[in-house]
Amino acid sequence: MTDATIFPQLEIPETIAAGPGPGNTDGRVLARFAGAGLADHMHGDVLRGMVECKHMLRAVMGTDNVHTYGVTGTGWSGLDVMFSAVQPGDKVVMFVNGTFSGIDGLTVRMRAATAGELAANPMDPQPASVTIVNVPHGQSVTGEIVEAALAAHKPKWAAMAHWETGSGRVNDIRGFSDACGKHGAMGLVDAVSSLGVEDFRIDDFPGVHGWASCPQKGICCLPLTYAPVSFTDHYIAELLKTGTRTFAHHPILEARHWGIIDGKDVEKGTYHRTHSAYAVSAFHEALRILLQEGVARRAKDYTFHEGALKSAVAAMGCEVTSNMTSLVVLNLPPAMAGREMELVQHCRAQNFGIWPTLSEPVQVRIGILNLLQEHVIRDIVARFGQAVRELGGTFDSQAVEAALAAHYGQAIAAE
Ligand SMILES: *Cc1c(COP(=O)(O)O)cnc(C)c1O
Repeated sequence: MTDATIFPQLEIPETIAAGPGPGNTDGRVLARFAGAGLADHMHGDVLRGMVECKHMLRAVMGTDNVHTYGVTGTGWSGLDVMFSAVQPGDKVVMFVNGTFSGIDGLTVRMRAATAGELAANPMDPQPASVTIVNVPHGQSVTGEIVEAALAAHKPKWAAMAHWETGSGRVNDIRGFSDACGKHGAMGLVDAVSSLGVEDFRIDDFPGVHGWASCPQKGICCLPLTYAPVSFTDHYIAELLKTGTRTFAHHPILEARHWGIIDGKDVEKGTYHRTHSAYAVSAFHEALRILLQEGVARRAKDYTFHEGALKSAVAAMGCEVTSNMTSLVVLNLPPAMAGREMELVQHCRAQNFGIWPTLSEPVQVRIGILNLLQEHVIRDIVARFGQAVRELGGTFDSQAVEAALAAHYGQAIAAE
């Protein structure tokens, strides 16, 4: 018998999305998503929109790479396209310092495993050709760590997260790129958290040949749209030699619908798979907003507001261990140590969407994606402070106010 229950319409409340992602989607993006007409994926304006997105994305990423486009889905979709060039038996060194680079490491191990290695441990293969370099939670991957590992192993591929969102740590992309160049490794970077938040140009890192990001963090385009990717000609040439066993996530085939054929821009894309006019419109608007504000301006605003939030929670007695500018990762004051998960759940129950870390040790994560206004940061600080008090914690409100006033006061003086 089939279950014929028709549930009431799904209502989802508006929350304060103050986590590591997804970030708050701009009203302009949602308006374009809902405002697009239904047109199929070969309609002239949809194809034109995709080509325009491609050009705007190159500006956002700072690249002349022809193979720069969006992959339908989320961050892992873009990363799956990027890692699809890794073949069974390939020698890879992967740097892991938290949850997300850990999953990148799993992806790499699945890709590089031989058939026998995969069958021996299908869900968690341990191929002999992959070296995972583990850096403790709360620490960054440094250029020295990368240099030493690549000198020792001389891999074909090296991979790292630019910003490890699990622990809120920025990794040394300059050192990574330099070491890749020096040792002839092709660098692959998970830039899911950094793109659109930090001011950097991917072409300034010539040791890195593949980049993947996501729609819903720095690009601020959650309504399931596109994960930006970019590949150098060297990466594409390598892929043309080896091939890869995927159609949907093939880095060369997936580019066709964006008007990238035989390594060149063409006026109109050709069919690869169905694209949504709604998603294309939303992504197009998100890129327009980012370029209108400017990546550099956005990056400065993140640095500034993260500084305010950090000083406010420090004034409450919390210890901040992160250095990303879109996310503050903290330990509660000593008297409340060990109650981080309880505090996060308490906040989430009130639709104040902060997060715990997903791997040990449990810490609190408060994000500010697209929340770059003084009154919003003050609201986050007030809600967090109230939750600390409701759990029995104490702090000096005047010290917190002084920290915020000093910070925002200085900014007004500096403008
Ligand atoms: C968020 C994140 C991911 C996963 O992105 P999804 O959009 O959830 O698929 C991967 N890597 C890093 C560094 C991230 O921050």
